[in-house]
Amino acid sequence: MTTLESSNKSRPATGDRPPFDVVRIRADFPALDQTVHGKPLAYLDNAASAQKPQAALDAEAECYRRFYSNVHRGVHYLSEKATDAYEEARRKVQRFVNAAREEEMVFVRGTTEGINLVASTYGKQHVGAGDEVLITTMEHHSNIVPWQLLCEEKGARLVVAPINERGEVIVEEYEKLLSERTRIVAVTHVSNALGTINPVAEMIGMAHARGVPVLIDGAQAVPHLEVDVQELGCDFYAFSSHKLFGPTGVGALYGRLDLFADMPPYQGGGEMIRSVTFEKTEFSPPPARFEAGTPDIAGAIGMGAAIDYLQALDMNAVAAHEHDLLDYATRALEAVPEVRIIGTAANKASVISFVIGDVHAHDVGTILDREGVAVRAGHHCAQPVMDRFGVPATTRASFALYNTREEVDRLVAGVERVKELFG
Ligand code: PLP
Repeated sequence: MTTLESSNKSRPATGDRPPFDVVRIRADFPALDQTVHGKPLAYLDNAASAQKPQAALDAEAECYRRFYSNVHRGVHYLSEKATDAYEEARRKVQRFVNAAREEEMVFVRGTTEGINLVASTYGKQHVGAGDEVLITTMEHHSNIVPWQLLCEEKGARLVVAPINERGEVIVEEYEKLLSERTRIVAVTHVSNALGTINPVAEMIGMAHARGVPVLIDGAQAVPHLEVDVQELGCDFYAFSSHKLFGPTGVGALYGRLDLFADMPPYQGGGEMIRSVTFEKTEFSPPPARFEAGTPDIAGAIGMGAAIDYLQALDMNAVAAHEHDLLDYATRALEAVPEVRIIGTAANKASVISFVIGDVHAHDVGTILDREGVAVRAGHHCAQPVMDRFGVPATTRASFALYNTREEVDRLVAGVERVKELFG
């Protein structure tokens, strides 16, 4: 059940990185140190949103406290400082996914906005009547609905690559669905509902062999995997700060500069223009063209600080720790009669979705909450995945670098408690 290695290159471990120490890491996240319903919090809802290290909180607060001002337009000291910090955050995001140039990184509100941006600009430009957009069954609604809207508007067709019983894309079927009418592929790197890590490099290669560009939804990948957009060869890559231990309300979209340069604006407003008259507006080059209006300045700076935090760790050790938790939880839950794990891909990130007999996931989530264990219950914004597995909802535990085996034990004890109550 592993695998950084197969999907991504590993970040070289440097001698100056401290050894992985979960106790020390937990101390960096103030929200973890609290009780819920009289029990210590076990926060296992990281795929929905992750907790924040003090360093990211401090960076955001410091911006507001010391050098807050609007960016790009000012000539005064604070505006220049804020602009420098905002643009430095862009470079951090660029280095994080190894984009070749900072102009290839656009700050957006999050993954959802990044995908909508591409659908509304590149999509509107290139998808016409009778054309096809190819996605997979395991997409989050954010990577379905924008394409559906585009297809409805244009008279195009949304084509869906199937997944198997383990929750893996059937790659041969995906390849067959790439047709001469396919104008773009949009696929998730890691499934939020199943944990599956998709073989995106292979899927990108297949699409490119037919001249089709690929957008990767990286929301669930960036907290766990090394992402190198140049190595993957993707055309667009979208992700959110809040799942990456940074603030909410900000995220980043990578786009190949030659594609960005040809794309029309997403929204109109300040900052995205070169000149405006009532007759004609000339647009700025990327990334400003896609950042109309005042951006989330402190949020972007906080996102940069969260990335710094993560990059100071040995990601191979983080991945090993998370895979240990996933394996440990999988073995323990598999041993509980009536528990069915949904999503058993060979290549998984630290997400475990399950059902307990016919107990509704909301009941499971509520009982676990009384035990201080925070999980998500529902369709996880992936209703087609629920339909594929014939369940209305699942309970989902998702682990981050700060979780422990002891928290997994408490999850499993909570599951036993559900069985007692509903047995
Ligand atoms: N894609 C995936 C795979 C996700 O898990 C999520 C959020 O759960 C999103 C997209 C949407 O992210 P956001 O709500 O941050 O825009």
